[in-house]
Amino acid sequence: MAHIPYGYKIKNGSASLDKNKAAQVKTLFEEYAGGLSLEGAANKAGIPRRHASIGLMLSDERYLGDGFYPAIISAELFNRVQEERARRAETLGRNRNYFADDKSNISPFWGRIFCGECGSEYRRYAENGKERWRCSRRIVKGRLCCASPMISEQSLEEAFMEVVCALDMEDVKARPPKKRLVIEKKYDDPLKQAEYVYSLVEADDFDYMTEKLINIMKNVPEDFDGKFMSKVVKRITVFQSGAAVFELINGKIYGKELIIVGGSKNRVGNTCKTEAE
Ligand SMILES: [Zn+2]
Repeated sequence: MAHIPYGYKIKNGSASLDKNKAAQVKTLFEEYAGGLSLEGAANKAGIPRRHASIGLMLSDERYLGDGFYPAIISAELFNRVQEERARRAETLGRNRNYFADDKSNISPFWGRIFCGECGSEYRRYAENGKERWRCSRRIVKGRLCCASPMISEQSLEEAFMEVVCALDMEDVKARPPKKRLVIEKKYDDPLKQAEYVYSLVEADDFDYMTEKLINIMKNVPEDFDGKFMSKVVKRITVFQSGAAVFELINGKIYGKELIIVGGSKNRVGNTCKTEAE
């Protein structure tokens, strides 16, 4: 019965949802639309299938529901996935060195943006053919859970260029104040105590990373360059106000206002659960 689409079961000649597998199919579509590779999305969904057949699943219109199979995927999500597939195919055509699993090919910002309100990662979603970054906990089960703003990739690029162009290299070189560290005597065993102390002390690579940064900053491109950005920025944290904090590779931080998509104030539902999306 290999021709039955994953997610369904056939009983007495009619198709119904295999609840667990249907949920996996939904996760597959959502994660792929959210930026994961075919394999990455399949893994996340827990679907043990090979690359090619995952691709076929993502274009299987039966998941929209037809006379025989009940719907698993909304038309909106299905369309988003088709757009994302087309977009990635185009990237693939443009760049022979494309690897689906290398997230930096999706965007140089991938894995670098975090929500300052709830700590979750920002992910890129395609909405109406436009790419938007938002907190991955923004909408959980149809409810607005985190009111961190949606931002466009372009506004991130612009903010980064503004940060870079305004950088005061003397300030970049200035060592930030050391965090005060409280080391207790926890263990009588000197080896155990040594391990404990070691676990508290962060490696101090400020001088090394600052020197590296200064070298990279000798060639600032005129326009946004993803490779350059990924060499300079360690982490970007976005706050509800639209403020973003860019943390450079040496740990120095610089704030910048982002342009928020939509603009209007969002209200967070109070019935939100802490489940993952
Ligand atoms: Zn958030």
